[in-house]
Amino acid sequence: MIKVAICGIAGRMGQRISHLGLEAEGLDLRGGVEFAGSPVVGKDIGDVIGVPHLGVHVVDELDAIVSTVDVVVAFTAPPDGTLAAAKVAGAAGVPMVIGTTGLSGEQVETMTNDLKDVACVFAPNFSVGVTVLAKLVEEAARILGADYDAEIVEAHHRFKTDAPSGTALALAEATARGLDRNLQEVGVYGRHGDTGARTQEEIGVHAIRAGDIVGEHTVMFGGIGETVQFVHKAQSRDTFASGVIRAIPFAVSADAGMYDMRDVLGIK
Ligand code: NAD
Repeated sequence: MIKVAICGIAGRMGQRISHLGLEAEGLDLRGGVEFAGSPVVGKDIGDVIGVPHLGVHVVDELDAIVSTVDVVVAFTAPPDGTLAAAKVAGAAGVPMVIGTTGLSGEQVETMTNDLKDVACVFAPNFSVGVTVLAKLVEEAARILGADYDAEIVEAHHRFKTDAPSGTALALAEATARGLDRNLQEVGVYGRHGDTGARTQEEIGVHAIRAGDIVGEHTVMFGGIGETVQFVHKAQSRDTFASGVIRAIPFAVSADAGMYDMRDVLGIK
C-alpha cells in the first residue's frame, strides 16, 4: 500500500483526491495538512471529507507526519502551503504530486531546487484529456504554421484567484513550441483600448471568471476563410483527481526529477 498525505485536504481538490484515493486500490490515506489556525486541524480526516473516521487527524505541519508516508500530494491556495510542503518533503526524501497553480517563476525555481533529490509530478492540469489536448495543439500549431492566429480562451468559477489558468498557460506554451516561438516574447494577456492590429506572432490568452464553471479551455487557430478550434470542458473536479491517482504510483517509483502528466501517460 502507498501511504499518502494531502496538503490542502479540506479544499475542493483535496477532498475529491481523498475520496478517489480511498476508493483506489493500493492507496492508503494516512495524512492531511491544513494551514495553522484552520478549524479542521486536529479533526479526524473522515469528519473533514465526510466519511467514517479513519483514525488519522489533520495537522498544520507536514513535518509532524512526513516520515509516516510514501508520497505527499499538494493542492493548496494560496501556494505557500505547497512551497512549505516541498521544503519538508524534499529534505525528508519523500516524492510529491503537486497541482497548485499561480506560482511565480521564482517560486517554481525554489520549489524545484527543494525537490531536486526526489521525484515530483508537477502539472497545471492533471486531466488526461487536457494532457492529450496539449499534445494535439502543439502538433496542430506546427502543421498550421504562422498563417493561423493562435488565441486561447479559458473560463473558470468565480472563486479562482489566479489568471490566466495554469492550463491556459500550458496550452499557450504548447502552441508556442509548435510554432517555434518563445511565449515570454509573444504572449498577450487580454486586450483593452487602442491596442492596434494583432501581430502575426502573438499568442493571445484570455480569462473569464463566472459562476461555478469547473474549467473550460479553447485553443483557436484563425486562418483566412476558416477557424480551427480545440475545446476541452471539465464537468467535475474528478477529472483532475483521477489523474492525480494515476500520478501517485508513478511519483513513488520514478527516479528523482521533475515530471508532468505527459510523463505519467508516456506521451512526452
Ligand atoms: P480550495 O481553495 O478549495 O482549497 C485550497 C486548500 O488549501 C484550502 O483547504 C486551504 O485551507 C488550504 N491551504 C491554504 N494554505 C495552506 C497551508 N499553508 N497548508 C496546507 N493547506 C493550506 O482550492 P482548490 O480548488 O482545491 O484548488 C487548489 C489549487 O489547486 C489551486 O491552485 C488551483 O488552481 C489548483 N488546481 C489544480 C488542478 C490541476 O489539475 N493541477 C485542478 C484544480 C485546481
